[in-house]
Amino acid sequence: MAERPPRAPRAESREIVELKQLREAHPELASAVDMQVALVDMQRRVQSRVPLPWIQADAEWLRTQQAAGKPLVRFNDIPLDWTDFRLTFRQTADILRRFDALEPADHEKILALGREGNALEPLVQRRYLATSGTDPGTGDRSRAIAEASPVPDHPPSLDQVLALALRPFLARCAEVVMQRTDLSAWRHGYCPCCGWEPDFAVITPSADRRLICGRCAAQWSFGTHTCPFCSNDDRSRITSFATRDGRYRVYACDVCRRYLKAYDGRGAARPVMVSVDSIATLPLDAAAIQKGYVG
Ligand SMILES: [Zn+2]
Ligand SMILES: [Zn+2]
Repeated sequence: MAERPPRAPRAESREIVELKQLREAHPELASAVDMQVALVDMQRRVQSRVPLPWIQADAEWLRTQQAAGKPLVRFNDIPLDWTDFRLTFRQTADILRRFDALEPADHEKILALGREGNALEPLVQRRYLATSGTDPGTGDRSRAIAEASPVPDHPPSLDQVLALALRPFLARCAEVVMQRTDLSAWRHGYCPCCGWEPDFAVITPSADRRLICGRCAAQWSFGTHTCPFCSNDDRSRITSFATRDGRYRVYACDVCRRYLKAYDGRGAARPVMVSVDSIATLPLDAAAIQKGYVG
């Protein structure tokens, strides 16, 4: 009987290849890189199973919603398969625990929450409504978010696990919304799709800055010298510094003390890859924190 040739290993994504190169060049980042590889690999597998959502919204509703500063992806638009979400939620917590990014006690609590038959679904919905500001009842968005957190009796790291676990599902929504909707009039510091904060940015070849959502990866244009967290646009109160090679930059706000990192795409060899660039810039976080800013 002829032996079957061994099955070819699955092609590694560009992100994984770049992450492995980063680990070679910077062994001091190895643990952070390994955690990111595990997360990216898991999220990619989940996302490939998530169908493109059918987002039912007419042009008029999209315009009104945007004009009111309300994000466009409603909870019911998210193609959530609960069995798959539960698995993603647990695997996310396990990966964070494995790399010591989650305390053992918090990990236990989060796993228990995932096991409870009817606790997780309403919690995910409540947290999404509170942090997205998409539903019509939401008045003052920032106040609603402040009042909704932290979740009583749950560890503060729960929101991080929820955001990471929702990403593969929400990213599909962001794909659809960005393809179908003109977001150029969106002038807010939070995501036009899901309402979350930006956690990275990219400077385009034409020197515009685009913010990138930390939950669904949507991108939108935002003033280069305006703070997305407090809207401070006094240029003299924005501190900006770059890495020596000029590839990355930090914008730090001297009013609210928060900062945002960016990939400078001008003359760059590849487009921004948040999963890679956020790890490559960990030394910049240290520099910003040392100057008294917070992430
Ligand atoms: Zn988003
Ligand atoms: Zn600020």
